[in-house]
Amino acid sequence: MTTISNWIRNGVHPCLHCGSLLKSQYLLCEPCLTRVVSYLPPELVSVRFMTFDVFAAFHWNPGVSDLLSAELVALKGSKPHRDWSFWAEEFMRRRARLPFVERPILVVPAPSSKPGKDHAYQWAEALAQQVGGEVVSCLRKDQAHHQRGASLSQRLRVRIDLDENSSRVAESWSEALWIFADDIVTTGSTALAAYEALGSPPHFEVWALARRSLSCGASRDLL
Ligand SMILES: [Zn+2]
Repeated sequence: MTTISNWIRNGVHPCLHCGSLLKSQYLLCEPCLTRVVSYLPPELVSVRFMTFDVFAAFHWNPGVSDLLSAELVALKGSKPHRDWSFWAEEFMRRRARLPFVERPILVVPAPSSKPGKDHAYQWAEALAQQVGGEVVSCLRKDQAHHQRGASLSQRLRVRIDLDENSSRVAESWSEALWIFADDIVTTGSTALAAYEALGSPPHFEVWALARRSLSCGASRDLL
């Protein structure tokens, strides 16, 4: 009995949305995955943010699609998921239709506050594999506590620093296309902090799985 229950625990993964046991190598069962794929716009969601472009596969309004929300929330964290490769392929199919200047591509994951390869790192790896680029994990979150008396906007500001050990940035700063990889982009403030931490390189883009609409309130930890 133990063997059977272990087999079920390890070998059968119910769909995170509908609970179906229909076999799929992803978090969702085949019918649910097909439904999420149907939400993908034919072109990437693209936003010009100051001097760089933000591209996303999905436009996500958390109040509208429970299915997409379930997938995006389940992908958070450091557990490895094949879904990242699946979405990176969908993303690149659309990005490849846009103008692309031939240059080395360096993919920088959004820094995590926890050690280990989190969701942003997995997304960066999957994208780098698709595009033949290299993952350069050279950013870290500034953990310093903000001074008392700092304004609200100062306290809300995302602080990102360049890892002192990274010489890769200086080597390839002007030549490479720098891709900042994050799962969800909302206001773009994290991307802007990353862009500044990298020294505002001349070729910089943000590649996200989803561009989150600000029109609906969801938990702040999804930002
Ligand atoms: Zn399902």
